[in-house]
Amino acid sequence: MNILVINAGSSSLKYQLLNPETGVLLAKGLCERIGIDGKFTYKPQVEGKETLNAVDVAMPTHSEAIQAVLNALVDPQNGVIGSMKEIDAVGHRVVHGGEAFAGSVLITDEVMKALEDCIPLAPLHNPANITGIKACQECMPGVPMVGVFDTAFHQTMPPMAYMYALPYEYYEKDRVRRYGFHGTSHKYVTQRAAAMLGKPIEELKLISCHLGNGSSITAVDGGKSVDTSMGFTPLAGLPMGTRSGDLDAGILQYLMNKYGMNIDEMLNVLNKKSGMEGLSGVSSDFRDLENAAAEGNQKAALARDKFAYEVRKYVGAYAAAMGGVDAVIFTAGVGENDAGVRADVCQGLDFMGVKLDADANNVRGKETVISAADSPVKVLLIPTNEELMIAMDTAAIVSGK
Ligand code: ADP
Repeated sequence: MNILVINAGSSSLKYQLLNPETGVLLAKGLCERIGIDGKFTYKPQVEGKETLNAVDVAMPTHSEAIQAVLNALVDPQNGVIGSMKEIDAVGHRVVHGGEAFAGSVLITDEVMKALEDCIPLAPLHNPANITGIKACQECMPGVPMVGVFDTAFHQTMPPMAYMYALPYEYYEKDRVRRYGFHGTSHKYVTQRAAAMLGKPIEELKLISCHLGNGSSITAVDGGKSVDTSMGFTPLAGLPMGTRSGDLDAGILQYLMNKYGMNIDEMLNVLNKKSGMEGLSGVSSDFRDLENAAAEGNQKAALARDKFAYEVRKYVGAYAAAMGGVDAVIFTAGVGENDAGVRADVCQGLDFMGVKLDADANNVRGKETVISAADSPVKVLLIPTNEELMIAMDTAAIVSGK
């Protein structure tokens, strides 16, 4: 079975063609500058087939982008399938499913309407996701499509975790609540963790740390998300590459009054100029922070320390929320690659049974147990694979499982 996984942005579209049963990736690539001119990158993963590096293809709309992808996939020379018939279904990443979607769904006219209803909750992302779905429906009539939501995994949170202490009517009338994001990644790594630990996920309490440019932490009890650090938007929780994470809302009024900023300008600071970049004045990239800190840049060192400290606090908080923890998982760009951040997060957590093995932790990008043999709580490094999770969900839905 082959599943085409599509992640559509407003002017870009990432794709992968993969087999969800074996996990084998056949091709991946990227369409950029859709609606401007159009750049197409195609990377077959099959030996003897050649990569197309950023070739110009006119892409006035997402439909031409999808068509370019399909043409490349079936290209007699560098394609990886014989015909479009070998694409069994398409899985679409959708950022926001609101409260309407607690899992992945087969896309129908009714679902499309519900997706439109979620636009106010993710005004930058959902319209692009919807455009991507419509373009695929146009180019691939009759091929089943599935929507996989960043928010769906978190729909199992209890009200005390998802409600904000605001007047209740803002929830009832305006749907203001914690939704959480990165759900596909948290779902994937927690399933992998259960496989690595050789236990049914229903019996495990897991803390999943997705630490990348955007970062979130999720408490997963018995396979269900029970709390997560991102909120109504992905701005909440941990400090990130350029996002502030949680802060005292009173700061907004103080700074807006002082500098005459409007709310859009203020949010631009919080989303794009804060976090690691804002604090360090160096970069949003943890590799740059590490280098700068090694050269004596104190603000870069502070930014890294602040990040690890906040992650550590969440690990403690979520262990308390679940009444225990069996394993802590590190994933995404920073979690998979930065042994120093992992060590700093785990530092001082011996009291709750977390003991890292320094040698085992000296690893990147592969599924590994990095805790000491006698650590009561396991620490796991698990590379995330959101595309594979989307393909697996899509396959399960189209085959009626
Ligand atoms: P996103 O998907 O949120 O854009 P990723 O999960 O790809 O982000 O993570 C990107 C971040 O991972 C980079 O900004 C960088 O800080 C970090 N990163 C990537 N490689 C390394 C590395 N070798 N060492 C430390 N940090 C790394």
